[in-house]
Amino acid sequence: MKNKFLEKQYKEIVSRAVKLKIMKRKEWNDRFKTYRDECGHSFVHYLECIRNKIDVFLTTNPIMLRNRNELQERFGVRIASPEELHKELHNNENGKKCPYCDYVGTEHENIDGKKNPIEGDISFCINCGEISQFKNNKLIKTDLNSLDESTKREINDIRVAWLRTKAISNVKRG
Ligand SMILES: [Zn+2]
Repeated sequence: MKNKFLEKQYKEIVSRAVKLKIMKRKEWNDRFKTYRDECGHSFVHYLECIRNKIDVFLTTNPIMLRNRNELQERFGVRIASPEELHKELHNNENGKKCPYCDYVGTEHENIDGKKNPIEGDISFCINCGEISQFKNNKLIKTDLNSLDESTKREINDIRVAWLRTKAISNVKRG
């Protein structure tokens, strides 16, 4: 059963993409027309993502996922399955998880307050006071002595301040 309204919309989106030179009419007829699954026409939704410059196109369509490398290269918009994105978000959490005590910090606790840590960033754990380094999307244990002098000094300052706060909160609690 085909929804007439939807089919009309699909047609319009395809025509618009051709007009905007996102793809050629011939490419559509020869190939992309068939990239359809029971959930609808994923490729047409993809065209809309391209037009709107969306970062990631989420799909469960096996044809889209199978051809994604080629599509990404051709159209620039990343294709991912919901599971993959979920995994990535989980990895992001690993990027905030202290390797010593498993405390998951917030972005406020990164030394330079950046939202997304980059390779090599140093992180100070406000739960246990240890330092770690961001590598391959997660925090790993780091030896303070392996860091340069200015970073060491910075960490010492943070640690002193942290110990002081901790002492105060212990007094309040006790
Ligand atoms: Zn910790």
